[in-house]
Amino acid sequence: FGVRTLVAPFALGAAGPSPSAGPFGAAFGIAVLTAALLQHLGLGAMVLTRTVRQLRRLSDHDALTGVLNRRGLHARHDRERRRTDGGAGCALLVVDIDHFKRVNDIHGHEAGDLALVAMAHTLQQAVRASDVVGRTGGEEFCVLMPATDAAAAHDIAERIRRAVKATVIDAGRASVRLSCSIGVAWSADAREPLDQLSARADAAMYRAKAAGRDRVEPVPVS
Ligand code: GH3
Ligand code: MG
Ligand code: MG
Repeated sequence: FGVRTLVAPFALGAAGPSPSAGPFGAAFGIAVLTAALLQHLGLGAMVLTRTVRQLRRLSDHDALTGVLNRRGLHARHDRERRRTDGGAGCALLVVDIDHFKRVNDIHGHEAGDLALVAMAHTLQQAVRASDVVGRTGGEEFCVLMPATDAAAAHDIAERIRRAVKATVIDAGRASVRLSCSIGVAWSADAREPLDQLSARADAAMYRAKAAGRDRVEPVPVS
């Protein structure tokens, strides 16, 4: 369009049909303009859709580790609640890294960040495909387990604890080993609000800390 506009004054009639070249030219020009407009609107809509998707991902995920953040975990739990009749049960684990402040103090904040990324990876490897990992605080993670009974929740918590203990993290200049304390909350009714589950899992996690850390606090059944 730009080139045609520039050459039109010098080559009237030679630049092909134009709005000034009779009824055919006018119709052709309008059709071309309409097609160009629709194409631009289409492209604009695609860019907007992609931007909205990216923004939604940013608002639901933790920027450092890539797992869900607290808001994302709540959204996921809401979706699960709407999908279930409640009968299959639901479990939540609160996984808090032990003495994590020491990792920062000894190896530096950057090594601490790498350890958090590795921790998220270990958790994702240790859970089942139906479980959801989230980072809900600085060095605190959660695992939401839809349609899970109390015994399975405890087994997976133990598997996570062992996997974290066995992982040697390459944190730049240092190798870091971690342990974690895990609180488990289980509900027979999968529609129980996440905040209630979370409060019980939190209390269990603090019991695990008080009992010496690097342990899973048994499931208090509701
Ligand atoms: P405890 O076994 O009782 O849980 O001890 P802790 O040291 O893990 O717990 P505390 O709450 O005393 O310290 C948590 C530390 O986690 C302090 C803070 O600097 C660190 N932390 C929180 N968020 C981040 C982060 O995004 N990156 C890094 N590198 N460190 C973080
Ligand atoms: Mg901690
Ligand atoms: Mg903590």
